[in-house]
Amino acid sequence: MPPNVLLLGIQGSGKGTQAKRIASEYDSPHVATGDILRKAIDDGTPLGRQVEDILARGELVPDATMIDLIRERLTESEGFVLDGFPRTMAQAEALDDMLAEIGRPLDVVFVLQVPDDVARERLAKRAVEEGRADDTPDAIDTRIATYHRETEPIVEHYRARGSLVPIPGTGTVEEVFRQIQDALEQVAVRQ
Ligand code: AMP
Repeated sequence: MPPNVLLLGIQGSGKGTQAKRIASEYDSPHVATGDILRKAIDDGTPLGRQVEDILARGELVPDATMIDLIRERLTESEGFVLDGFPRTMAQAEALDDMLAEIGRPLDVVFVLQVPDDVARERLAKRAVEEGRADDTPDAIDTRIATYHRETEPIVEHYRARGSLVPIPGTGTVEEVFRQIQDALEQVAVRQ
């Protein structure tokens, strides 16, 4: 069975890159809410029009919208690598309920740890390379502050449950992935 993985970490922590690696190595679909929202914006769907300005400012899309979106995806997939959701305690509680309902508990919750200044530098670099609409200095500041205020409490929530595996995110992509792999192998042994 592909594992059910949740990845937490500030924007610029390398979360998206690692999530893609895990998804391809372990055959678990990569469910990245930021990517889903950006595609909706590019496609000009009603959801895209609703969230476009919110993303550009670096603020959070309302919980109810995100919870509906995720419910659809998770019931469709076998195993998952969740990237970008949950971002608030309300989302985390909704996720826990949803997973209990469908009988697919999280196998592991990773948090990629990088200092704010490293995250800020990486995001500034990505702004030049990829030209993402929300990589402006103001939106980056908002996203970092929002992470500390809204998302960090989730890290403690999963730590208290014993499913949290902190990973230093400052190494190379390969080094970070190797540590993730080690932790996933231990999960597989326990299953
Ligand atoms: P990301 O690609 O994960 O950095 O997400 C880009 C943007 O999409 C965020 O800054 C938010 O505006 C929005 N977004 C993505 N996931 C969520 C979520 N779970 N809750 C609220 N907003 C989200």
